[in-house]
Amino acid sequence: MAKKIVIVGGVAGGMSCAARIKRLDESTEVTVFEKGEAVSFANCGLPYYVGGVISNRADMIVQSATTLKGRYGLDIKTGHEVTRIDPVNKEVEVTDLKEGKSFKQPYDELVLATGAEPIRPNIPGVKGSNVYTLNNLNDMDGIKEKAQTASKACVIGAGFIGLELAENLRMLGLDVVLVEMLDQILPPLDPEMTIPLLQELQMNSIDVRLKSTVTAIDDKGVTLQDGTKVEADLVCLCAGVAPRSALAREAGLTVGPRGHIVVNTRMQSSDASVYAVGDAVQTCDRLTGEDCSVPLAGPANRQGRIAADNICGRSSVYPGVLGTSIVKIFNQSAASTGWSEKRLSRAGKAYFRVYIHPMQHAKYYPGAVPVSIKGLFSPEGVLLGAQVVGPDDVNAAVDVLAIAVTQKMTASDLENLELAYSPQYDSAKSMINMLGFTAQNIINGDVVMIEPDQLDQEDLYWLDVRMPEEAECGVIPGTTIIPMEELRYRYDELPRDKKIGAYCTVGLRGYLAYRQLIQAGFDVVALNGGYRTWCWFQNMNGAQTGIPCASLPACGEPCDGIIQDSPSNTITLDVSGLQCPGPLARVKQSMTEMAVGDILEVIATDVGFMADIPAWCNSTGNSLLETRPEGNSYKARIRKGNSVPTVAAVQKAVAPDPVTKKGKTIVCFSDDLDRVMATFVIANGAAAMDSDVTIFFTFWGINVLRKTKAPPVSKGLLDRMFGMMMPKGPGKLSLSKMNMGGMGSMMMRHVMKKKQVMTPEELVAAAQASGVRLVVCSMSMDVMGIKKEELIDGIEIGGVGAFLGRAEQADVNLFI
Ligand code: FAD
Repeated sequence: MAKKIVIVGGVAGGMSCAARIKRLDESTEVTVFEKGEAVSFANCGLPYYVGGVISNRADMIVQSATTLKGRYGLDIKTGHEVTRIDPVNKEVEVTDLKEGKSFKQPYDELVLATGAEPIRPNIPGVKGSNVYTLNNLNDMDGIKEKAQTASKACVIGAGFIGLELAENLRMLGLDVVLVEMLDQILPPLDPEMTIPLLQELQMNSIDVRLKSTVTAIDDKGVTLQDGTKVEADLVCLCAGVAPRSALAREAGLTVGPRGHIVVNTRMQSSDASVYAVGDAVQTCDRLTGEDCSVPLAGPANRQGRIAADNICGRSSVYPGVLGTSIVKIFNQSAASTGWSEKRLSRAGKAYFRVYIHPMQHAKYYPGAVPVSIKGLFSPEGVLLGAQVVGPDDVNAAVDVLAIAVTQKMTASDLENLELAYSPQYDSAKSMINMLGFTAQNIINGDVVMIEPDQLDQEDLYWLDVRMPEEAECGVIPGTTIIPMEELRYRYDELPRDKKIGAYCTVGLRGYLAYRQLIQAGFDVVALNGGYRTWCWFQNMNGAQTGIPCASLPACGEPCDGIIQDSPSNTITLDVSGLQCPGPLARVKQSMTEMAVGDILEVIATDVGFMADIPAWCNSTGNSLLETRPEGNSYKARIRKGNSVPTVAAVQKAVAPDPVTKKGKTIVCFSDDLDRVMATFVIANGAAAMDSDVTIFFTFWGINVLRKTKAPPVSKGLLDRMFGMMMPKGPGKLSLSKMNMGGMGSMMMRHVMKKKQVMTPEELVAAAQASGVRLVVCSMSMDVMGIKKEELIDGIEIGGVGAFLGRAEQADVNLFI
């Protein structure tokens, strides 16, 4: 007699299993019960039909019941729900949902592929008619229909489905608020790696509310735990899924602590005649063998195939899950495989991490954009997990890394992998090789890293080896900038008695600086992942570093506070494919050729440029009118000069450094010795009391920061004369009263020395050492003909916006 096989659930796991059984053994009688309207539909495509990316609903059915019947000889019964399993008599009870009739179906072997269902948290109003989940075609139709009349949507949960739905609703033109209980989106990734995606959501005007819990839902929207109301006509619950395992549980099969059906490696449940596959089951972690469940399509399909093999007498073993996954939101993708850092540290496992930000293909070939990879290695160098974030094509990298994790490859194996290369696809040293090189450098002791989230553990002399225009986008506070190309000639400016922290944007030049300096006898560490990774950690702590100002006025609208000149020219600059500092250098060059008031429209593919441009505009006195995504690129509109930003514009446009405590800001306008002393005494005192202190030096105040012996710089006659007449540095300042041709100042210095009061020079050094930010007004420098080379190291050059941004976050502001 033919073997009777019953399969419950006819989508990913169930249909894979059914088709393979028939391929292996035509003599079997396979019946598939599916309670929904269709088998084999594209769950993963549901959000894209909502958003109109997939326009034909029929395309959502990958294989129709009729095709499957004809091709495989399967008996497919849609609209049939299995309501009970009788494992003793080996039969299931089935209800024909259309006819309302029930019947029993015997089986020799039963496969449960019942999937998972959306979790509906116990919130008042969760059953309201405006609340939707997205799990099947019906749900999809409901959301699509509602979205046609809705203007505001609230998506609850920023996992894969929540993100995809938020993107698609936004593409339909709805205002979207994305509410997430955790402090990050996309929980499988480590929080810092989600920042580019968060920025992408924000740039596309999705309002993301992290650390926010929904406490109630009504027909007007949702209420958050702090009482905030989020207006929404459409509420989508994407708060995770729970295994559909009630049938199994009621039949006495073993289920795990979170309700998943427990199976062995042959996909058999605690009853050997009952197999289970897909989202409903608990399998094991591929690396450690620990119990684990991952609701993804790949594992479900492969588990279905393995169950089929075993049912047909083959011996197939499921090796466990890695959790390899990928998601694309607007222009950014994020992928991961294996263990995350969160998981490793929760489990108390030893590891080290590597961040790299290579270009996705050869830099010189058009369209190159940066990709970010985080690799997690055991102390011996075995790859335990990896995360990849970037605009496109991150799937190739994550797939190679998934193989590497599976095969327990080491950093050295990654170094030596031979991967396909031509300039359109990768670099001759592929990004996977680069990850291996970096990890192996750490293992070999060729570089000692400082971690971007642990800077407070060491008192370092920060050295930025980027080009000055790159550093204009922001630096780690207290940094000295010496471009990599000049470093070997400027060792005498570096301390021998203090550890140097070298960095650049992505870590490569930081590493080069490390190698040079360590061989020159300096004590040095390199910043893991460079300034970009450091910014991500700052963003996690609530700072706006590098966040693009998506919500600045739209094209054509005047920006608050910008002085409107008579008709301005618009110049277009396409920097697509260039990587930092290329775009900034080109912007800077174009700006010098433009008249004040002209507008530069920059098209870029590097999202890093979009993160940098607000701070660059701010520090160079230009006005950022708008940034926005445009197809696969981004557009920034910059108005040359004349910016008088309002507080609101500054808050959006400025990329201030992290402010975790109330700051103090001081405008130092004067170069009088006594006033400068007062400025620095207050600044040092406030810094000692753990305040973030910024001193903004404008007009005469700039003289305080002049080097006594500055290198020669080219200047016009007037600027040169002006410079000669003004004091050079704190040692040359005069008293505001009773100066008596310098006698008063000398007497004052004598008294200070006697009474052991710090000299002005010492006060400046102490302020720098305690992290006081010394910001010099770029406009005043220009007016007074002072060049950056004439000023002491470790200062920043900024516009009024930079100062206002800090003042907004301060509770004391002094003008001296
Ligand atoms: P399903 O494919 O969900 O199938 C279970 C079926 O069983 C359902 O059709 C259900 O109606 C039926 N059923 C349940 N109980 C009964 C019963 N008693 N009687 C009869 N029929 C029953 N994964 C990825 O890897 N990548 C993605 O991009 C991705 N995107 C997704 C997007 C969305 C919107 C959703 C919902 C899921 C997505 N997934 C994705 C997850 C992936 O779809 C699932 O992991 C996979 O489908 C699980 O397969 P399964 O066979 O276990 O369950």
